[in-house]
Amino acid sequence: MSQSDAQLTDAERDRILAKAALFAPPEPVLADGRRDLVGLSRAELAAELAAIGAPAFRARQIWHWVYHRGETDFARFTTIARPMQERLAERFVIGRPDVAAMQQSADGTRKYLFRFRDGQEAETVYIPDRDEPRGAACLSSQIGCTLSCRFCHTGTQRLARNLGTAEIVGQFMALRDAFGEWPSPHDDTPRLLSNIVLMGMGEPLYNYENVARAMAIVMDNEGIALSRRRITLSTSGVVPMMDRAGAELGVNLAVSLHAVRDDLRDELVPLNRKYPIAELIAACRRYPGASNARRITFEYVMLRGINDSAAEAHELVRLIAGIPAKVNLIPFNPWPGSTYAPSTATALRRFAEIVMNAGFAAPVRTPRGRDILAACGQLRTEAARRPHRRPAA
Ligand code: SAH
Ligand code: SF4
Repeated sequence: MSQSDAQLTDAERDRILAKAALFAPPEPVLADGRRDLVGLSRAELAAELAAIGAPAFRARQIWHWVYHRGETDFARFTTIARPMQERLAERFVIGRPDVAAMQQSADGTRKYLFRFRDGQEAETVYIPDRDEPRGAACLSSQIGCTLSCRFCHTGTQRLARNLGTAEIVGQFMALRDAFGEWPSPHDDTPRLLSNIVLMGMGEPLYNYENVARAMAIVMDNEGIALSRRRITLSTSGVVPMMDRAGAELGVNLAVSLHAVRDDLRDELVPLNRKYPIAELIAACRRYPGASNARRITFEYVMLRGINDSAAEAHELVRLIAGIPAKVNLIPFNPWPGSTYAPSTATALRRFAEIVMNAGFAAPVRTPRGRDILAACGQLRTEAARRPHRRPAA
């Protein structure tokens, strides 16, 4: 057990695992019994293949077709002889979530509604860079969220279930399909889908196992091969799991801070009652790999008259002093029924200046895709009915 693992008490771990089981995704198996190969680790893939008598080197070949080439049809696996292709097709599929809807914003942002095998849906957003030919896929980790942050639309949607490994990787793979971005042997052009941010629906650290498995797949060098530096995980502050994510994944960390006093943060981000600001900041201080080249991002949604005073900006820089960090100021994005208002331009500027004068970058995150409800905190889907398993909120 690593030192950071020790931060998680047995009781906490049991509680998190029990909850995860309650919200577990369905098995990735079709009605006809065929199993989805997407989402398996390399070892699991090898075991599945061994069960049908395929030698171990096949696993590597198949991994390449699935994750490097993005091929979904076994008949096009040209390094594999036809009888084996047929055996594979009898037992397995290479799945993708269905695109149930796609909307494109005036600013180029795209929002995809993906439908999974059990009819549940989640949203994924593509945010193109304004200047360079690159962009970020903003992936969802859960359908709904248990955490009910007061300013967040997703937080008004009860958690239906966690997304499975295949469904998390599948969002990215389906975007690659849509953008025609699977590399061919001769084409290694810059990728529009250059980054992943785990900032869609849900709290990724409350679905850690599936998120971690999915990120291990996208980072695998013989597949999608995205560098951990191009992946950012955003958390509302699940402190014990931050240690684990740091030790095991080493991706960039973004922390949804939003308030500098516990009384206010308790209200805005109710998880603060469990993991208060001092504990959260301590977890950031020990997050491995943070450096000036790889800073921790503190996200701060600017709510008019609520958390945007000069005094709060000063307190923020006091709190994060010494952490290699930047502060992302997010103008509040309204949604139907929301009660907050975005900060005024003057308040935003004043806040940003105080943070910058203390030596931290403080970019204001320009809202993207607001017109299609694709901006931060605007995602929400109607959960499909699930008469058989109805977990409590
Ligand atoms: N659950 C994770 C990741 C998803 S939210 C988390 O909370 O960090 C991504 C970011 O959008 C978070 O910082 C979140 O607090 C912020 N956000 C939520 N609702 C928002 C809104 N209405 N306007 C602006 N940002 C919002
Ligand atoms: Fe959940 Fe993040 Fe929204 Fe909070 S801000 S309700 S943790 S998705």
